[in-house]
Amino acid sequence: MKKSDKLTVYIVGTAYSGSTLIGSALNSHSRMLYVGEINRIPAYIKQYNHSKHPASCTNCLITDQQCKIFSEKNIQKIGNMSPIKTFDYIRKITQKPIVIDGSKLIDWLRVSTSKDLSDQTKVIILTKNPVSYLQSCKQRGIEPLWAEANAWRDTYFDAMRTCSRLGLPCLVVRLEDFLRAPERVLRQVCGFVGEGFEKRMLEAKMPLHAIGGNPGAYLGYVDKKILVNRYEEMGQKEFDINPMRLKTKLVSKLQSRKNLRAIQNLTLETPGLIDIATQLGYVYSDFLD
Ligand SMILES: [Zn+2]
Repeated sequence: MKKSDKLTVYIVGTAYSGSTLIGSALNSHSRMLYVGEINRIPAYIKQYNHSKHPASCTNCLITDQQCKIFSEKNIQKIGNMSPIKTFDYIRKITQKPIVIDGSKLIDWLRVSTSKDLSDQTKVIILTKNPVSYLQSCKQRGIEPLWAEANAWRDTYFDAMRTCSRLGLPCLVVRLEDFLRAPERVLRQVCGFVGEGFEKRMLEAKMPLHAIGGNPGAYLGYVDKKILVNRYEEMGQKEFDINPMRLKTKLVSKLQSRKNLRAIQNLTLETPGLIDIATQLGYVYSDFLD
């Protein structure tokens, strides 16, 4: 692999912004590999203290198998390397030159990248409409919501500031755009990383082997019953799926309508939140019904 051929793409943003979903689509590209939340490898948690919850490959956790990429042996090996070496190692074993990290924390971007590699590093700032983000928090029982609203604002403020400071090219991807027009967004991402679009990205049929992430994104190729069983065995904290994903569509729709007005008000009343959201390309009507 030529030196100029490799690229590490960091996805940054809040939780529940759809990184596993988009990661899965990108992973279907013949030259891209989505590796999930590398910062949750146990040795990295110890070293960098960015996350409290160690994780392994979510696919293999759900289906109860030994992972080919993130086997216990490989996770240990990776834990002894720096993140930059890890990405090279993963490139070597998978033969995919573009590695996409879905750790999402901006602090992780600060510790795991290097100024010398700024020509081989790009950032996707992944966002979800703050109203939908707060609804996801509410459905998972995460409170207080006002603190989450502040965290949403601060996360994206910090993301934009850090990319500027580190001189890293970044692309804002709004989850809503991806859900509405996946091909258009995937073409944008392909253009951003210098690759051609591949139709199979829309099918996202390639099995995804990535650390952590949202088990709900595996609903396409894992049976819902298996997900429900795992959820009941492990509980919300360890198996962080939105419980609404496991309910019927109608129940989930009714639940998301509940409290909507209060969440919209909170979004509009949180100081500075709308300013940041408009910097990311949202418009006022996105926050209303
Ligand atoms: Zn796996």
